[in-house]
Amino acid sequence: MPVDATLPYDDDNIFAKILRGEIPCDKVHEDEHTLAFRDINPQAPTHILVIPKGRYVSWADFSARAQDAEITGFVRAVGTIARQAGLVETGYRLLANTGGDAHQEVPHLHVHIFAGTNLGPMLA
Ligand code: 5GP
Repeated sequence: MPVDATLPYDDDNIFAKILRGEIPCDKVHEDEHTLAFRDINPQAPTHILVIPKGRYVSWADFSARAQDAEITGFVRAVGTIARQAGLVETGYRLLANTGGDAHQEVPHLHVHIFAGTNLGPMLA
């Protein structure tokens, strides 16, 4: 069921539980502002989810409420993860489903990194 990205943050969402350590994840990166882990249902040979540690539902929410350092740290982490995963040479795709029409399933802001195969001109 896609989420309504205009709703307040829900502390019971699955990524909040991962951030609190209540649910395990296959972590690939962690820093002050960001956590990244492998998707449980990968849609490409490399499928990583990058999330800010703060309680944000959407990009609109993030850009409205986050500190500049959180935004900078998050964006920088996406690039760092791509570089450390060896994706700069091969290429990769970033995707951020937001709200109902985009079928966002988890109401905590996240960016998907897809790579490891020729992804074609569109994923869906
Ligand atoms: P969305 O549709 O919200 O952009 O994508 C949410 C993603 O989270 C999906 O690709 C889904 O496979 C992934 N996901 C959902 N639950 C879990 C989980 O418990 N652990 C991990 N690692 N990924 C999850």
